[in-house]
Amino acid sequence: MGRDGGTAGTDVDVIVVGAGLAGLYMLHRLRRAGFTVRVIEAGSGIGGTWYWNRYPGARCDVPSLEYSYGFDDDLEQDWEWTERYATQPEILRYLEHVADRFDLRRDIQLATRVVAATFDEVTSTWTVETDAGERRTARFVVAATGCLSSANLPDIPGRDSFEGPSYHTGRWPHEGVDLTGRRVAVIGTGSSAVQAIPVLAEQSAELVVFQRTATYTVPAHNGALPPAQQAEVKARYREVRAVNRESVVGFGATSVLGPPTAATADVAPAEREHVLAERWDQGGLAFLGAFTDTMTSAEANEVAAAFVRSKIHEIVDDPAVAELLSPTQVIGCKRLCVDSGYYATFNRPDVRLVDISSGGIEAITPTGVRANGEDHGVDAIVFATGFDAMTGALAKIRFAGVGGRALAEAWSEGPKTYLGLGVPGFPNLFLVTGPGSPSVLANMVTAIEQHVEWIAGCLEDLRAGGHERIEATPEATEDWVAHVNAVAGFTLFPSCNSWYLGANIPGKPRVFMPLPGFPPYAARCADVAAHGYEGFVLGPVR
Ligand code: FAD
Ligand code: NAP
Repeated sequence: MGRDGGTAGTDVDVIVVGAGLAGLYMLHRLRRAGFTVRVIEAGSGIGGTWYWNRYPGARCDVPSLEYSYGFDDDLEQDWEWTERYATQPEILRYLEHVADRFDLRRDIQLATRVVAATFDEVTSTWTVETDAGERRTARFVVAATGCLSSANLPDIPGRDSFEGPSYHTGRWPHEGVDLTGRRVAVIGTGSSAVQAIPVLAEQSAELVVFQRTATYTVPAHNGALPPAQQAEVKARYREVRAVNRESVVGFGATSVLGPPTAATADVAPAEREHVLAERWDQGGLAFLGAFTDTMTSAEANEVAAAFVRSKIHEIVDDPAVAELLSPTQVIGCKRLCVDSGYYATFNRPDVRLVDISSGGIEAITPTGVRANGEDHGVDAIVFATGFDAMTGALAKIRFAGVGGRALAEAWSEGPKTYLGLGVPGFPNLFLVTGPGSPSVLANMVTAIEQHVEWIAGCLEDLRAGGHERIEATPEATEDWVAHVNAVAGFTLFPSCNSWYLGANIPGKPRVFMPLPGFPPYAARCADVAAHGYEGFVLGPVR
C-alpha cells in the first residue's frame, strides 16, 4: 500500500471515523505501520467525549494515571496529571498534546460528518460520503465513533416550546454558560448529572432536579495528585498497564485496595461493613470490587446496595428526601456514579428533588417543566439525559454492505458483531469498542488500545498475506452473540433498564450490548489472530 493514496486507486488505505481517544491512536498506530489514513471528525476539534462534554464538573472517574494512553513510554513519563480525577479541560489538553506530539492533525479533517459508507464488492473498497458532499474511498473503514457520542435529547411534549435556554450535557456550549442567579432544572440523575448538580447548585439561585430513577454514587475523594504518588506510578508504569490488562474492568492497578479476594457470603457481616467502609473511604469505582460476587449474586449485591443506602440516610438531613434518593435496583446494574458532594447537595435550601418515577415529565412549557400535575418555573433547562449508547453513532451513518444491505436492517433486532470488531456482510469495516466487546464495562482507554492494536495488527497481517478483504462469518457472529448473552446472563447487569441494554431509548431493541470481563476477551482476540483470523473469511489473494 502506497504512501500517497491507497491501493486500488483509493484515496487512502484507511478512513477512520472519529477523532476521540480511539481515532487518534488508530491514526498514529496505522501511520506507523505505513498505511495512509484520513480521519474524519464531526466536531470542530479533536478529543471526542472530552471535546463535547464541557458541562460544569465534567471529569473522568477512572484515575487519571490509568485513564491515559499506555502506548508510548515518553508520553507517559512527560505528561503530568494534576488531580486524582482529571477535569474535562485537562483531559482535552492532554489529547491536544497527543495530537501535536505525534503530528496527527495533518491527517484529520474536522467539522465534517460521515453520513454514508458504501462497500463496492468488485473492488473491495468503501466509498465514504460526508455532509459536505465529498466522497472519499478507502480499502478499510474504522468506525471510532464512540460508545457515548450520540446525545439523547428525549422527545418530551412541548420540548421546543421552552422560552429560555436549554442545554444537553454532551453538547455543552464551548463558551461556557453563566447560570448565576438563575432558576435551573436538571433532567436526569446519571453520571453527568451527578457531576454537574453540585457545581450547578453553587451557581444557580434555585436548582430543581427531576429524578426518574434514583442513583447509586460513591465519593470520588478527588484532590490534587501528590507528586510522590505520580512518580511512584511512573516508575512502574509497564507493570501498572499489565496489571490493568489482567483486571476484569481494565483498571485498578494504582488503587491501594486491590481486587476482591472473598465472596460476600464468606465474610462475617461486621467484617463486610468494614470492607465496604474502607472502599467508600478510598473513593471511586473500586467500591464495586469489594467482594467477588457483587455483580453475580443478588444477596451479595444487596449488601453493597444497603451500605450505600445507609450512607445516603447518614448524609441527607431530610429523611423523606433521603428515601427518594435511595435506589432500589441492583447496584452497578446502571453504571455506578462517582461524585463530589452529590447527596449532600440535597441539604441545600435552594435545591429541590422532584420524583418523576411514576409519571415522568408531563411536558415542557414555555416557562418551565410540568411533572406530577405541577408547573416548575425555571429560567434554564439542563438535559443530563445521556446517550443513544453503543450503536447510536453507527446508526446515524448509512452503511451499505454486501448487496447494499443496510447496517440498520442487519441490526434491527439488536447489534450483531463478531468480537465487537467485525460485522458479517460488512467486509473491511472495523468497529472500535463495538457492541459485543468489553468497551464501557472496562476502563475505556484499556479497551481502546487493545482494539486499535488488534485492528492495526490485522491490517498488517492482511497486507503481508496479500489479502484485500476480511469479513466476519455469520456463524462466528451468531456464536459470539450467544456467548455475550450467556456471559451477561451470569451477571445481574440485565436486571434493570440501563443504557447497556438500550432501555433508555424508546423503541431500541433490548439487548445487552457490552461484554463483561476484559482479560478473557482480550485473550480470545489474540487467539483469533494467532489462528489465522478464525471466524473471519480473508481474501481474495492477489
Ligand atoms: P469518542 O470520544 O466518543 O469519540 C468519537 C468521535 O467520533 C466523536 O468526536 C464524534 O464526534 C465522532 N463521530 C461520531 N460519528 C461521526 C460521524 N458520523 N462522522 C464524523 N465523526 C463522527 N470512560 C472511562 O473509561 N472512564 C471515564 O472516566 C469516563 N468518563 C466519561 C465521562 C463522560 C462525560 C462521558 C460522556 C464518557 C466517559 N467515558 C469514560 C467514556 C468515554 O466515552 C471513553 O472513555 C472515551 O473517551 C471514548 O473514546 P472514543 O474515541 O471511542 O469515542
Ligand atoms: P445516563 O447515565 O444515561 O443518565 C441519563 C439520566 O437521564 C438518567 O437518570 C435517566 O433516567 C434520565 N432520563 C433519560 N431520559 C429521560 C426522560 N425522558 N425523562 C426523564 N429522565 C430521563 O447518562 P449520563 O449521565 O450522560 O452518563 C452516560 C454514561 O457516560 C455514564 O454511564 C458513564 O459511562 C459515562 N459518564 C461518565 C462520567 C464520569 O463520571 N466520568 C460522567 C458522565 C458520563 P433513567 O435512569 O430512569 O433512565
